[in-house]
Amino acid sequence: MTIVEPHIHMYSRTTDDYTAMYRDGIRACVEPSFWLGANRRHAGTFFDYFDLILDFESMRAERYGIDHFAAVSVNPKEAEDLALASAVLDGMAPYLDHPRCVALGEIGFNRITRNEEEVFARQIEMAKARGMLTIVHTPHDTPEVSKRRGTERILAMLREQDVDPGRVVVDHNTEETMDLTRRTDVWAGMTVYPYSKLNPARVVGLLRRWGLERVLVNSSADWGVSDPCSLPKVAAFMRGEGFDAAAVETVMFRNPMAFYGQSERFKPRLDLPWIDPAQYQR
Ligand SMILES: [Zn+2]
Repeated sequence: MTIVEPHIHMYSRTTDDYTAMYRDGIRACVEPSFWLGANRRHAGTFFDYFDLILDFESMRAERYGIDHFAAVSVNPKEAEDLALASAVLDGMAPYLDHPRCVALGEIGFNRITRNEEEVFARQIEMAKARGMLTIVHTPHDTPEVSKRRGTERILAMLREQDVDPGRVVVDHNTEETMDLTRRTDVWAGMTVYPYSKLNPARVVGLLRRWGLERVLVNSSADWGVSDPCSLPKVAAFMRGEGFDAAAVETVMFRNPMAFYGQSERFKPRLDLPWIDPAQYQR
């Protein structure tokens, strides 16, 4: 089966990961911009990173038979520094206009502060002005932050700013937020991690409860404990739970193709060959 991974940070993954993804059927992926593990101090560092995920990462993925696209933004965690965020947004247009850029994201909330709201609102306007798709990150539950409250605020702001909900994915849903997301017409993302976030059984529970329409299951794999082959594992689990081939294909392939296919730049080549590293490495 051909799988499209709608949210993964390959920048922080290895060539072995690409090989395993190809082996398990993943043929295209989308890499949103994210927090690199330390706050950046210069707008130029963001721009260099955008170049890396738009150009170098696409080239690297292609050697492993995977067509790689990206999304750029100021991520929620770094939106708190308003001066820096503004400098990045002022210079972000050429990256949004890059042929491999299929969405603006991920944006959203980390601690749900005024500064985060301001940077979120401004990026929503940038996406609207360009007719671009948007990837929205919902915050993690912590003692200070409620994921549910963050999701409510995101959905309210999307409504206030009159965003077409069919062009937005609100990501990292759990049992605590799906009822909110499903009250609107946005796409609902669900992230499968080995330990935290959802596992295959919980995803299947959510799919049974809320259906397969407008859902995007992803691995969100990055530099933390995560698994770039989460999707093949969910697919196998779904089959074991009695979902038929068409249902599995809807979640693994048709839905991500339909969401990103709204961008004219997203025309993934699904027949790229995996190239033996011996052929190109010195
Ligand atoms: Zn992410």
